[in-house]
Amino acid sequence: MSEMPLIETEKCDGCGLCVSVCTCGALRIVDNVISLVEMEDCGWCTQCELVCPNGVISFPFEIVTEES
Ligand code: SF4
Ligand code: SF4
Repeated sequence: MSEMPLIETEKCDGCGLCVSVCTCGALRIVDNVISLVEMEDCGWCTQCELVCPNGVISFPFEIVTEES
């Protein structure tokens, strides 16, 4: 996967919730702001996006389902 999660660090308050749900160790709090430090470890589970109360993390893809 070549795309990166979008991280709007200016909205991050350093609460650490995303780090606590990331099972891949891809996220760290650095200087009280989220940092994606191990991108190659990210499994794109999107849990960090779901748990963040400030909408800091988003993923540049959209899942579209079609009815057959
Ligand atoms: S998408 Fe999943 S694996 Fe990747 S940084 Fe977020 S919580 Fe961690
Ligand atoms: S959950 Fe959101 S606000 Fe909290 S540290 Fe992670 S990115 Fe920042």
